[in-house]
Amino acid sequence: MRIAVIGTGYVGLVSGVCFSDFGHDVICVDKDPAKIDRLERGEVPIYEPGLDEILVRNVEAGRLSFTRDLARAIDGAQAVFIAVGTPTRRGDGHADLTYVMAAAEEVAKAAKDYVVIVTKSTVPVGTNARVREVVAAANPELDFDVASNPEFLREGAAIDDFMRPDRVVVGVETERAGAVMSEIYRPLFLREFPIMVTDLESAEMIKYAANAFLATKITFINEIAALCEKVGADIKQVSRGMGLDNRIGNKFLHAGPGYGGSCFPKDTKALARIGQEHASPMRITETVIEVNEEAKRRMLGKLRDLCDDSFNGKIVAVLGVTFKPNTDDMRDAPSLTLVPALVGGGAKVRVVDPQGRHEGEALLPGVTWEDDAYAAAKDADLVVILTEWNEFRALDLGRLAGSMRVKRMADLRNVYSAHDAERGGFEAYVSVGRRPMG
Ligand code: NAD
Repeated sequence: MRIAVIGTGYVGLVSGVCFSDFGHDVICVDKDPAKIDRLERGEVPIYEPGLDEILVRNVEAGRLSFTRDLARAIDGAQAVFIAVGTPTRRGDGHADLTYVMAAAEEVAKAAKDYVVIVTKSTVPVGTNARVREVVAAANPELDFDVASNPEFLREGAAIDDFMRPDRVVVGVETERAGAVMSEIYRPLFLREFPIMVTDLESAEMIKYAANAFLATKITFINEIAALCEKVGADIKQVSRGMGLDNRIGNKFLHAGPGYGGSCFPKDTKALARIGQEHASPMRITETVIEVNEEAKRRMLGKLRDLCDDSFNGKIVAVLGVTFKPNTDDMRDAPSLTLVPALVGGGAKVRVVDPQGRHEGEALLPGVTWEDDAYAAAKDADLVVILTEWNEFRALDLGRLAGSMRVKRMADLRNVYSAHDAERGGFEAYVSVGRRPMG
């Protein structure tokens, strides 16, 4: 099977690399010359654990290559996956489909033989039908089908998620397209991972419904955490007690500073917009979006309270700025709200992140980057744990507090406990949904 993948971002690159590892011949295309140059040198332009090793293995085996030339990539391909970005459109919350439609048109103009044009990007219901129209208009002679194949991988665990998925969802209109998609995913089918074949609209809907549900679950537990603080309950115990119920499950029940990242914020907004357009309001999702914004504001309030109502002149060490551990992705990370508010309030902010610096330098002006938590905390007035990277999970709290000017910690991921902080010599400790120290 010969496959082309358009877009070498978090989804396109992982998909292309994994398809080649299945044994298919894969060419990945990107219009960004810097990304293709790096990939051709065997370098991975994003941080995703384990990706480099599989990439190199498949390039060496001659099954995987990279190009900027879309026409060359799709020459002879039986399937072309569109995995370009679908960010929030400015102003109305709708998913911006400019990149998807541009890619579809380029494929239409370059393709010669039968091809399945597969949308892997997250797109609103009806987009694949529009892709079909765009392709047919651009190349009326072309024999093709469209397919929807939404992606569910998580950054930071993307390889495992792709190779061992909970399910693969494939939306098709013809048996012929279904046969091509089955052939592509055959290695997963043989290992009995569920492959679900649906119509186009259901496949498109599954992705938004799943992401909105997960965002709801996180937001629900964050709201319960806020109430726990008021009534003196402990969110960790509450989450565990809830999660042991199989109907609820223990995943996505960790209270924190509000969800961020490249998917939940934009996909919840897009779903709300789709609901409005079809006069079927997504009231729960709309509320989730609002409550999540409130959660981020609440975190800022916690930091302000800890700093005696003023950030001015305070030295604040922020541990972690990526939206979650094991990725370099900063899109819609809570740090993008909290850090500028600290800087704007007059704090001197020092930042540490194992992978976030490359992206973060441009996004977080006015901060100083440090190599480790201890360097960041030296003489500081407050340390904030914002992303629960492993290296922040086992800090020597005595050493950390020992070098601080004022020993205060805001643990927005509930990595430690008030007891740990007290033992380490901290004078003040707050977390999310639990009693503060003292
Ligand atoms: P990304 O921004 O990391 O990558 C997109 C890539 O597409 C960029 O490298 C860009 O240069 C390239 N591109 C855009 N237009 C192109 C064109 N016409 N020709 C060639 N290359 C082009 O995006 P991403 O995070 O990989 O997300 C892609 C899609 O997958 C989005 O719709 C997203 O919602 C969805 N998704 C993302 C994740 C995730 O965890 N990141 C998970 C599931 C689904």
